[in-house]
Amino acid sequence: MNRIGVIGTGYVGLVSGTCFAEVGHKVVCCDIDESKITRLKQFNIPIFEPGLEELVKKNAAEGRLSFSSDIAGVIKDSAVIFIAVGTPMSASGEADLSYVKEAARMIGRNMNTHKIIVTKSTVPVGTGRLLESLIRDNLPDSSQTFDVVSNPEFLREGSAIHDCMNMERAVIGAGNAQAAEAIAELHAPFETTIFKTSLESAEMIKYAANTFLATKISFINAIANICGKVGADVTEVAAGMGLDSRIGNKFLQAGIGYGGSCFPKDTYALKHIAEEAGYSFKLLEAVIETNENQRLLIMDGLVQSLGSLRGKKIAVLGLSFKPNTDDVREAPSLSLIPRMLEMGADVCAYDPIAIREAGQYLPDEVDYAHELYECVTDCDACVILTEWSEIVNMDLERVHRLLRSPVMIDGRNCFELDVMRAHQFEYHSVGRQVIR
Ligand code: NAD
Repeated sequence: MNRIGVIGTGYVGLVSGTCFAEVGHKVVCCDIDESKITRLKQFNIPIFEPGLEELVKKNAAEGRLSFSSDIAGVIKDSAVIFIAVGTPMSASGEADLSYVKEAARMIGRNMNTHKIIVTKSTVPVGTGRLLESLIRDNLPDSSQTFDVVSNPEFLREGSAIHDCMNMERAVIGAGNAQAAEAIAELHAPFETTIFKTSLESAEMIKYAANTFLATKISFINAIANICGKVGADVTEVAAGMGLDSRIGNKFLQAGIGYGGSCFPKDTYALKHIAEEAGYSFKLLEAVIETNENQRLLIMDGLVQSLGSLRGKKIAVLGLSFKPNTDDVREAPSLSLIPRMLEMGADVCAYDPIAIREAGQYLPDEVDYAHELYECVTDCDACVILTEWSEIVNMDLERVHRLLRSPVMIDGRNCFELDVMRAHQFEYHSVGRQVIR
């Protein structure tokens, strides 16, 4: 019998399944999307995640990791089943649990021995209990026993392998102490801190952690917006704040706000959970609103420097929601580029990895460059949306020469003001003085 089955081979399922194999467990990953499984069997990794391809190949070659589209078979053969399917935001802002529920029904229908079902997907408080009843309702034999455990995932795209192999903690929420211990044992090779809680607390920890980080980002962005008006420099302010160990320097980089597949949907989901519980979470509402307004700084900078955008050519550097990933879910590029086009601009975009992903969602009028310097050539302004190292380390002198006018709107504060002054750019960044 395989020890671990993983349902869902997205960023979380594929990375965590591979890391469990790397520490010695036998793992089979399955997905409802057969094309993904076909690609994975050929080691054609469907997502961009540094180090993942090598680790998948190594563990498959050593016989610990395999892929299957036979979800029922994987369930039957596994003692522990991780659910790592998506929980996207629904139209009303709450988490869409349809994929998780479908996985639970499948598990129930195929339960042949005692199994531990572990939810890795980010799910609202109460979902573990809901899954217990869904599984029970679908059991072929009602005397069959099983346990449901919550084990939320904290990895970050772009450094997912590192985060998984060096996890700071494993939160294990369960109603049954033996099931919690079994999942703790699976984590033993990671030598991490095991934190056991109730099912409900584990589910809440994930939302509380993500929302706290989002709050830090919106807080420093609000401070940045004041800094820009009163002559302070937010990078200095954040550095000074971060020296206080009670605050710390992480998640204090001002910019155009958070995006991605987690923070936007998880903040909305927690707002919804709070409403359902009868609590009006005003602080979180302000965090969300601050974040949504923050990306508009890019449009303000463009209009300030170019006036009307009609007929202007704008180079957009960075399409993914953050560096080192091809994920464009809730990326600022997807909302800002259509706005630039609506205002009459021509847009040429460049990203080291995410052009293919972003191209699926952006309007057809967007031109794509294969190379950064080609992208900025003859543009009236250059906009930075993602701080890829290639972008942070670009040759500013060359960019200045290639642009039609040396205007840079930097949504990620990639450059020192003195450097931009020395290169004679008109430089708009976040929470710092404008250089002209
Ligand atoms: P994803 O969209 O990349 O992958 C989900 C996968 O599940 C897809 O391949 C899909 O085909 C598959 N799937 C859906 N329904 C299925 C079913 N019934 N049976 C088998 N496969 C099915 O999602 P993701 O980014 O990996 O996120 C998964 C969960 O983990 C979400 O709840 C997310 O909030 C959470 N999470 C994500 C991250 C992250 O950085 N991406 C970090 C921590 C937690």
